[in-house]
Amino acid sequence: MGTFDVIIVGGGHAGCEAALASARLGARTALITMALDQIAAMSCNPAIGGTGKGHLVKEIDALGGAMGKVIDHTAIQFRVLNKSRGPAIWSSRAQADMYAYAKLMKHTVANQPQLLMIQDSVQSLIIEQHPAPRVMGVKTKIFGHIQSQCVVLTTGTFLGGMIHVGSTQIPAGRSHEKPSTALSQFLRSTTPLRMGRLKTGTPPRLDGRTINWDQLEKQHSDASIVPFSFSHDTLPAPQLIPMHLTATSPTTHKIITANLNQSALYNGQIEGVGPRYCPSIEDKVMRFASRNHHQIFLEPVALNSHEIYPNGISTSLPIDIQTQMIQSIKGLNQAHIIKPGYAIEYDFLDPTQLKASLETKYLKGLFLAGQINGTTGYEEAAAQGLMAGINAARHTMNKSAVILKRSEAYIGVLIDDLVVKGTQEPYRMFTSRCEHRLSLREDNADLRLTPLGHQLGLVNEEDYQMFCQRKALLDQGRELIHKLRLGDLSSYDDPKAIVPSDNAGTPLIRILQRPGSNILHLKSHHHQLAQLPDKILTRLAIETRYAGYITLDTSKNRALKNLHKIKIPLNFNYQMVGGLSTEVVEKLSSHQPENLDQASRMSGITPSSLIQLRIYLQNHTATQSLSR
Ligand code: FAD
Repeated sequence: MGTFDVIIVGGGHAGCEAALASARLGARTALITMALDQIAAMSCNPAIGGTGKGHLVKEIDALGGAMGKVIDHTAIQFRVLNKSRGPAIWSSRAQADMYAYAKLMKHTVANQPQLLMIQDSVQSLIIEQHPAPRVMGVKTKIFGHIQSQCVVLTTGTFLGGMIHVGSTQIPAGRSHEKPSTALSQFLRSTTPLRMGRLKTGTPPRLDGRTINWDQLEKQHSDASIVPFSFSHDTLPAPQLIPMHLTATSPTTHKIITANLNQSALYNGQIEGVGPRYCPSIEDKVMRFASRNHHQIFLEPVALNSHEIYPNGISTSLPIDIQTQMIQSIKGLNQAHIIKPGYAIEYDFLDPTQLKASLETKYLKGLFLAGQINGTTGYEEAAAQGLMAGINAARHTMNKSAVILKRSEAYIGVLIDDLVVKGTQEPYRMFTSRCEHRLSLREDNADLRLTPLGHQLGLVNEEDYQMFCQRKALLDQGRELIHKLRLGDLSSYDDPKAIVPSDNAGTPLIRILQRPGSNILHLKSHHHQLAQLPDKILTRLAIETRYAGYITLDTSKNRALKNLHKIKIPLNFNYQMVGGLSTEVVEKLSSHQPENLDQASRMSGITPSSLIQLRIYLQNHTATQSLSR
């Protein structure tokens, strides 16, 4: 086995994006994963996107990642969530044919130049201690030593993984896959990296032939679809099918309550903390005792499969109780379970041990991405994988790390939250986590990130040319709608748009900023507007609606910019700064923020301690090395 620039450990959602990004940047990359047939497997729900997650997928695509393109090719149901609310938080979600998704992602990875896939299990890291600890490669079970300059660990739920179904416990990384035990032990015993335990769960899968579909309400795809990838105008091969809705019943709740002591997620058999926002059905029944039903979406996992994923009832009850529970649900009275639901407990690494580049502070060249950093979800994993792959490749080329700011991307918010605040429970992205959400929308992810993706070498020339054409149309349309006045339109008389004070001199932009106005209604009243595609006009209408807030956001960003520039040296001695409490010194020393901006967002860091630190750094850093 030769040597590589970058080794990616794990072929999940983080690993695939990391490997593709690293290789596309020109680094000789190896993707080592335990089972090549399980690449990009969807461990839980067969869907990509959702609230906040849709934004991540659009950003991954805008930067040149693969997830958006792959889901567009394999989607079997497409909806935009939060449609009743403002467009800033509209989030795309697609049901996937999960087998087709995994196959296409594997094909993409397998055909990437500079990238070699290896099936093996990584047991430990090769570490050189002098002059400072740095990673030199990995040791695998079969191939043995494989050298590299950087290693990206993306081991998901596999480190020390333990599955629970009732009182049955099975060491596993995912259903019927071996856990990663040796690597977990190595990290615990050989490195000072802090590790913890988290848990998550999944529902039983059902045989669709045993479901009484006639009793259930259907839910169809949206009528008009905006694909995830900016390079697709329409879905490449639409094969959309409906989902069905059902709900738990009072009988279901009685069965669950009577058997709670047998649920591993609930009876204390598992110590790890679970995802608050994706609770088990046991949790839901206990936490919302006054509700007599909980909604369930019946989602087909693939087009040519009878396997059905009942979304909303993850459980770790014993299999006989799972059967009773399922058969107490409308439409499922005869349903057969083909795969049991289960809970899984696994190791994660405290992400505050990472730099914003996702490289560990302790071990040079070691990057971590995905569920190993305490997140949950394919999109969160893929976003981190992309950034870790970029930064690992650049590390080998002695280039600076690419760090997205909170004001630039949801990916920036995700990574900043992880490395600055850490997480005590599986971290999931939400639009509410993003303070700049009015400007960081799904619709403008390409404007925000594609130039960077192209400059890095990730966005291919064809996609970049399409982006340039889109941008030119947007610029042209923007100029036009800023210039036009009501009097320029031919016989325009939409009662919703016109108010009594409007006259021929009323700027069009003022009309477009009103709730309820519709740019597509205006289109036919002006020949230049009529020449612009509906997609471009719709984007301009959204942009116009938020223009005022965005100006405010931009001035706030300018004020914050300076904090970001004040770097804090690695292993900085906070005791030298007068006026900091012991608690603040301990927190800062343990988290080691990279700059004052990061320090300002850590919990427990008071404004007065920040001022002390700022004064000290500004007075003293001229004589200190600022390199980290
Ligand atoms: P994974 O997709 O888990 O991939 C890890 C990869 O690493 C695998 O390919 C594995 O073979 C490989 N690997 C591990 N150790 C080694 C080693 N030592 N050597 C070589 N290869 C190795 N997410 C949600 O958003 N909502 C949910 O409800 C949800 N429920 C879940 C329920 C269960 C039971 C599980 C298992 C996961 C659930 N998830 C859920 C999480 C979702 O599956 C993960 O967040 C996502 O897959 C993480 O991606 P990843 O790339 O970090 O890891």
